[in-house]
Amino acid sequence: MLSYQHAYHAGNFADVHKHLALFAVSRHLLRKKSAITYIDTHAGRGLYPLSASESQRLQEHSHGVEPVWQARRRVSQPLLGEWCQTLGDAQPDAATLTHYPGSPWWLGQALREQDRLRLYELHPGEHRHLSEQPLAGNAARIFGDGLEGLKRQLPVPTPRLCVLIDPSFERKEEYKEVAEAVRFTLAKARHAIVLVWYPLLPAGHHHALADNLAASGIRNIWRSELAQRPAGSATHGMYGSGMLVINPPWGVDATLSAVFAEIAPLLGEQCHHRARWLVGE
Ligand code: SAM
Repeated sequence: MLSYQHAYHAGNFADVHKHLALFAVSRHLLRKKSAITYIDTHAGRGLYPLSASESQRLQEHSHGVEPVWQARRRVSQPLLGEWCQTLGDAQPDAATLTHYPGSPWWLGQALREQDRLRLYELHPGEHRHLSEQPLAGNAARIFGDGLEGLKRQLPVPTPRLCVLIDPSFERKEEYKEVAEAVRFTLAKARHAIVLVWYPLLPAGHHHALADNLAASGIRNIWRSELAQRPAGSATHGMYGSGMLVINPPWGVDATLSAVFAEIAPLLGEQCHHRARWLVGE
């Protein structure tokens, strides 16, 4: 039984962290003509009106996308400026932030004629919402388990592959299942770029995920964590957002570090970013 609904959290600091990383990677991939398959294993609905009762209940976007959007005309990192401008394209009125787009939209807007996008969603209601979103190009919305779907897609028919794994982690076992799916993917597609999102929770389950992948023999794993509060200050609830990026395109780590250093003060007094290579080349 799936109870998580991303609409309660859309546009929060973790979404900003995740979608900036996704945007930086896809921007880099677009520099070459060769075709890309994008696979989003946990897609969600794709677009979230911020006025919806779910978003209004926790107002998480007011400490996430909103302050970044407010600062969009004075940001110094070019990638951050481009991200804000692209975010404007998701708005019915480009001057006003009323909607927050999810990963299917961020990937969909990067899709060229030669590329493919495969979106998995297992929640019937979320999948129905996703099916109502317009998506141009070779994009398929698949109702089913994302990690199993990912495995079935391999090998892909394009020279390049980019995967986003962004589960809700409602079950503790998901950390292990994600690590297994990443190992399987890299065994089938050694050069795949894989982005894995994980929550920073006081229980610290994410350490097992990182340890598992660090011991897997997979090289080239960059780790980025954006914490809204110091780890020890939280007894419950998510205090930060983590990303593992396997095989990040050259320079994306430095670009993102500069972007996250710029947005951290916008997201809260205690917000800070740290990054390091979990495994080098
Ligand atoms: N990736 C989305 C984004 O960035 O906008 C947010 C995804 S949300 C964190 C996780 C989603 O995964 C939820 O919509 C949930 O219904 C869905 N989900 C949960 N278990 C799943 C599974 N086994 N396979 C596919 N989707 C699943």
